[in-house]
Amino acid sequence: MRGNILIAGLGLIGGSIALAIKRAHEDATVIGYDVSNESLRLARSLGVIDEAVPSFAHAACEADVIVLAVPVVQTEQLLRELAHLPLRSHVIITDVGSTKERIVEQALPLLEKGVAFIGGHPMAGSHKSGVAAARAHLFENAFYILTPTEHVKEEDVIRLKQWLKGTKAHFVTLTPREHDRIAGVISHFPHIIAASLVHQAQQYEREDELVSRLAAGGFRDITRIASSNPEMWRDIFIHNKEELLQLFDRWIEEMKKIRTYVADGDSERIYHYFHEAKQFRDGLPVRTKGAIPSFYDLYVDVPDYPGVISEITGYLAKERISITNIRIIETREDIYGVLRLSFQTEDDRQRAKRCIEANTNYETYVV
Ligand code: NAD
Repeated sequence: MRGNILIAGLGLIGGSIALAIKRAHEDATVIGYDVSNESLRLARSLGVIDEAVPSFAHAACEADVIVLAVPVVQTEQLLRELAHLPLRSHVIITDVGSTKERIVEQALPLLEKGVAFIGGHPMAGSHKSGVAAARAHLFENAFYILTPTEHVKEEDVIRLKQWLKGTKAHFVTLTPREHDRIAGVISHFPHIIAASLVHQAQQYEREDELVSRLAAGGFRDITRIASSNPEMWRDIFIHNKEELLQLFDRWIEEMKKIRTYVADGDSERIYHYFHEAKQFRDGLPVRTKGAIPSFYDLYVDVPDYPGVISEITGYLAKERISITNIRIIETREDIYGVLRLSFQTEDDRQRAKRCIEANTNYETYVV
């Protein structure tokens, strides 16, 4: 497809969308705008965009598709600006924000003028941010939520999906409210729980400094999302306040319930609590990317002796399987195996699993 695609915000998500559009539409011109000159320069030199522009308003008026890939509070600001611009009549505007209701509300003046605004949220990410971390394959197999309102024509939704087909994501249509409720449960609220577990450990650390040394393994892994970008999470919590307040109330009730089981020494209820959680969790799909970035980790149960890493990496190198991260886990609590290998894709992880199992007697686990 031919056309001018304007990407505002050339970070991890905007950069990855730009690359995905370029790989699927060679004739399109991808134009980038960012408040940071450094990001703009880097995006141009990495070939993420074809052109860098200094003015959002000017480029927006010439665009056939506009992708707002800035933090959600900035998205509201850009939507206000767009409402006053003489845009092309067929332009499609979309965003990538992790919240939808407030953003779609802010787009109402545009929608009422007949401009096709389609809220979007590609549910994949990385622990990294910035354009240098952008990848064309970031959204492969991920869910990509679209939240068109009744103002938007079906043909515009189809056109947007065609523009975004290079993401190789699975498109799902939801209402903005439905999106915010689901994202609240599976993505936003878990970030608060992870951060609060870390705060709790930090408070205990003041009493006993062994806490952080022993937290090096399992605890570090289950609180991984507490290392996400604090600015982004602040904005998401400001936006999705109503849903999150309900989740806080339900969580407090949940904690009171399990606290009572523990206080009563009610072994049967405690068992069932864990058993039900295990059954539901074990049944969750593993092959699709979810709202919280996956790392495609493979645990290998190896004895901790010198040379074991080079033995394993040697086999993987022979089969040209690249590793993104490698770590010896310091504590074995909750972890199946002492060596953790991370891969970029599910396919690499599966190949690595087969390769290690074929060449060694070490057991491998995907958790
Ligand atoms: P990022 O920090 O990597 O990039 C954001 C970019 O926007 C930066 O380059 C910044 O300079 C630029 N920017 C900020 N304000 C701007 C403005 N007013 N005009 C133009 N550029 C501006 O962040 P990211 O991870 O790419 O997140 C961007 C959006 O994607 C957010 O709305 C976030 O909710 C959403 N999102 C993030 C993830 C994730 O895991 N990172 C996943 C899905 C959706």
